[in-house]
Amino acid sequence: CGIVGCVGRDDETLATLVHGLSKLEYRGYDSAGVALVGDDLDVVKRAGELDDLRAALDDYDIGGHVGIGHTRWSTHGPPTDANAHPHRDCSERVAVVHNGIIENYEELKAELREDGHEFRSDTDTEVIPHLVEERLDAGDDTETAVRAAVSRLEGSYAVAVVVAGDDRVFAAREDSPLVLGIDDGAFYLASDVPAFREFTDRVVYLEDGEFAVISADEWHVTDSAGQRREKDIDTVEWS
Ligand code: GLU
Repeated sequence: CGIVGCVGRDDETLATLVHGLSKLEYRGYDSAGVALVGDDLDVVKRAGELDDLRAALDDYDIGGHVGIGHTRWSTHGPPTDANAHPHRDCSERVAVVHNGIIENYEELKAELREDGHEFRSDTDTEVIPHLVEERLDAGDDTETAVRAAVSRLEGSYAVAVVVAGDDRVFAAREDSPLVLGIDDGAFYLASDVPAFREFTDRVVYLEDGEFAVISADEWHVTDSAGQRREKDIDTVEWS
């Protein structure tokens, strides 16, 4: 169970994400996947080892500067390709990775089904992209839509979200670790520092209830209400 995210300067984001996932393998996992925002929003995910994901990626020609990745430790639904993250909404505009458990997912799923959403996995996680889609359809801008979706969640989560046509990664946490990596010309996001330690030693630890936005030239953290937070950049020691 690990999350990675990256907004990079050049077209190395995919390699950076897979590298990050390999550094989080120690946390344990049964499936892995990535989403990249390029011309389209592409998702490749597989049950099994990272090598199974790498083999699957060989069959695709995908790229982009903005992406997220995940190693899954199943809690809701068996380890299958369909249950692997990232999960998407009906229109495939939104991709979400999540660690933790959404305690109120059954209620949310029932509500979303009522509104016509169709689900493709057994996971608790899949409610999140559909919640974002609901808000986008209602006219919210991307950031507002993601915030509104996160505000509906009860339970434990570290989540990262990307949306087609938007070159930012959105992230939030509650009872699950998440840390930003600050580099010159690239920003990273992960469950733990080793995921991006090779690229930078400057980190910003997120706290429960915080919401982070990273783009090509800027990062910021707010509280759940959207108020900006002053965050310290820590330097991690060489190990
Ligand atoms: N509850 C989610 C699932 O079963 C996330 C599990 C995790 O933390 O990797 O897919």
